[in-house]
Amino acid sequence: MEKYWNIIQGSFSGYWNYLINEISHPAFNNYFYWLIGLSLIVWLLEIVFPWRKKQSLIRKDFWLDGFYMFFNFFIFSLIGFNALSNVGVELFNDMLRQFGITNLVALEIGSWPGWLQLLTLLVIADFIQWNVHRMLHRIPWLWEFHKLHHSVKEIGFAAHLRFHWMESIVYKSIQYLPLAMIGFGIKDFFIVHIFTTLIGHLNHANVNWNYGPLKYIFNNPKMHIWHHAKNLPQEHLYGINYGITLSVWDYLFGTSYVPKSGRDIKLGFMGDEQYPTSFVKQILYPLSKKKKELN
Ligand SMILES: [Zn+2]
Ligand SMILES: [Zn+2]
Repeated sequence: MEKYWNIIQGSFSGYWNYLINEISHPAFNNYFYWLIGLSLIVWLLEIVFPWRKKQSLIRKDFWLDGFYMFFNFFIFSLIGFNALSNVGVELFNDMLRQFGITNLVALEIGSWPGWLQLLTLLVIADFIQWNVHRMLHRIPWLWEFHKLHHSVKEIGFAAHLRFHWMESIVYKSIQYLPLAMIGFGIKDFFIVHIFTTLIGHLNHANVNWNYGPLKYIFNNPKMHIWHHAKNLPQEHLYGINYGITLSVWDYLFGTSYVPKSGRDIKLGFMGDEQYPTSFVKQILYPLSKKKKELN
């Protein structure tokens, strides 16, 4: 028991020190400044090449979504997720040891060329995430959490990281095992993380792009806006365009849908008129909804 307690304490102080170090030491391998830099670049693109010209630069919920960005990237790790995931990993490893499993790695890709390792990580992790995203739409209690991402009414780059912290737990725990089996630590591979953050920002940005023929590989603003459509087509009532970084899964599995320009479509979900508008109420929403149902 003491071991877990030590992990919890170490996680809090470790993450605190890491964050202070990030903020006080700008460098090329620094997430904090990359997140700020990428956000400014994509915002600049929105300013220079706006798709919805009437949308204000400080659109509705701009600051709220900006807060979500830092909350989900750093603050949530600081106040709990880092400790929780470290304990989770240790518990999981202890459980495996009970069964005599000490090494999870099934496919050793450490000897492959660097670019191939990065590409493999990107493709495998993205496919897992595409499936998790579909589950978020399909499974009712998960959808209650995912509604937060879909409650955005005017979209821009910062909406990318507008999501409930529960999603971090769902995504990370589901992808942990398969990635560990091919010898990846989830914290590795800085470049992939930065690249996927950039694509995610662009997917939500107010720009009229789809990267030409590359649209069949990479998710893009013209495609992802349809994922946020309030009115879904009859044949896809759970959702469409589930792609995170790659769009190829939607084309392969028949969930792609870009019937026309989505520039002015209504965003949201059915019943979003009652959805709360403040951070605290949004975070508590899935619980308060449950409570209402039980009463
Ligand atoms: Zn979604
Ligand atoms: Zn989105």
